[in-house]
Amino acid sequence: MNLLRILTWLLVIWIFWSMVKNYLAKETRKKPGKPALPQKMVKCDHCFVHTPEADALSHDSRWFCNRAHMQAWLGHKSVSDK
Ligand SMILES: [Zn+2]
Repeated sequence: MNLLRILTWLLVIWIFWSMVKNYLAKETRKKPGKPALPQKMVKCDHCFVHTPEADALSHDSRWFCNRAHMQAWLGHKSVSDK
């Protein structure tokens, strides 16, 4: 009788856990459709255009919108550190 009770509880917990897992899987699948969260913007030190931090390139705590601008800025500065 005691074993039957334990098995019943385990079954209830397993069903509950499956439902929670299913719900969480649905929630995570929904996320890519949602609009992206606001991103941190950084200013390019060469052209002063604001770019999302994820797309920007950093060098010496300065930010650039692309590699060409970073190289242009580095060439403009000095080439002694190369
Ligand atoms: Zn730029």
